[in-house]
Amino acid sequence: MKYDGENLVLLQATITGSLDLDCYLCSNDVVLPLNENVEFLISDGAYSGMREDYDVVESFDGNINIEELLNSEIELIKSGYHSCEDCK
Ligand SMILES: [Zn+2]
Repeated sequence: MKYDGENLVLLQATITGSLDLDCYLCSNDVVLPLNENVEFLISDGAYSGMREDYDVVESFDGNINIEELLNSEIELIKSGYHSCEDCK
């Protein structure tokens, strides 16, 4: 983590592991290996600026639920279309 002024903290994390998904074409099981780098800027309090480089996450109680952030990233990956070997 590093500070970047403006009460912003850069959070960098890597999601590793694998996801069990269904092929969107034939519903076969698909195991998707994960190696996803995610970066967020955490703002201490409301953030009114604009950034195009990172997503800014506002934190109001001083706590950041990193797990929730990562889960939402995973949900995002899951919501994409994934096909099994047979359907590629
Ligand atoms: Zn398939």
